[in-house]
Amino acid sequence: MSTTRAYLDWNAGAPLRPEARAAMLAALDAVGNPSSPHTEGRRVRAVVEDAREEVAALVGARPAEVVFTSGATEANNAVMGGRWRTILLAGIEHDSVLAPARNLARGGHTRLVDLAVNAGGRIEAADVADRAREVAGDGPALLSLQLANNETGVVQPVAAVAEAAQSLRLAQGLAVHTDAVQGAGRVVVNLRALGVDYLSLSAHKIGGPKGVGALVIRDGAALPAFIAGGGQERRRRAGTENVPAIAGFGAAARAAACDVGAISRVQALRDRVEVEIMAITPSAVVIGAGAERLPNTTSVALPGASAETLVIALDLAGVAVSAGAACSSGKVGASHVLDAMGLEPALARAAIRVSLGWGSTEGDVKAFADAWARVAARRRAVA
Ligand code: PMP
Repeated sequence: MSTTRAYLDWNAGAPLRPEARAAMLAALDAVGNPSSPHTEGRRVRAVVEDAREEVAALVGARPAEVVFTSGATEANNAVMGGRWRTILLAGIEHDSVLAPARNLARGGHTRLVDLAVNAGGRIEAADVADRAREVAGDGPALLSLQLANNETGVVQPVAAVAEAAQSLRLAQGLAVHTDAVQGAGRVVVNLRALGVDYLSLSAHKIGGPKGVGALVIRDGAALPAFIAGGGQERRRRAGTENVPAIAGFGAAARAAACDVGAISRVQALRDRVEVEIMAITPSAVVIGAGAERLPNTTSVALPGASAETLVIALDLAGVAVSAGAACSSGKVGASHVLDAMGLEPALARAAIRVSLGWGSTEGDVKAFADAWARVAARRRAVA
């Protein structure tokens, strides 16, 4: 067996970029607290503020709109803390959106409105406007719609949905949040063009370190402090900033901003993965194939197979892919995302995700195709 591995699970976590690593190492030695007024403190503050500028630039926001967090899970939870009477969302959202929203609903103060997902995995703006009208005058409402799905890569029409909600927004207080974790660095992300109030990011999906992210809060959008304490992060998220992680996030954001321009190379590799799969196993189904998708992601179901078994077999053959979301692994049953898309449960349990990034190579695609061919041959032999 070859000792080199093909890593094709970038949606679960991208490798640390060299720029991010260098920025983190430099920041580790920075003395002092960024809130201190002395020279040391101001030097560390500059590291944090430079990173804030880079993260803001990645999503077309102003630096003051960026609140650093421990990751997108915290950012998504923070948005749910907005004392909403109604939250509109679809079943395809990440668990870090769904779980806090459902907890609020269980508490009795908040009503959840479940948005329809079409067979391609998309939300339709007209449907959202209808559902939003139903909650008219019911107090503050939040619409949460991911930019792109982590499992299928299906891209949502966030700008169109936010625009449809816009006319209702003033009269009824409908705020819009997007979890942009999987879109950043892969499609153009711009807070104002999207027309959203809140936007979540995670550093480790764009080549920064794990355990840091951001909630971008549009100037003028309300949100209570989500961690109380000192006055850090404009009084929204208290606690001494994780300076090395933030420095790494900033460097990764700067690099990721350039990735979108070079994404066609990654897309060509992703397309090759699909071509190879269909050639080796013609019964395979590419999920969301008809919808607009991220250029780096494919979710493929092999009828009759078990995704867990495929992932293990590919892993033994030196190829890392996933069965659904990494953070959901260990759970029994099919992915909630594929379920919300109305996929037949047996097919949903047979779906693996292959995701690529800036460091992916032709060699990775070849390693995947070889491994897939071997797995398919073994399945045929057993059958
Ligand atoms: N949202 C989406 C769409 C994700 O893919 C992830 C990571 N799997 C998260 C949120 C959570 O991000 P983090 O790991 O930074 O908490």
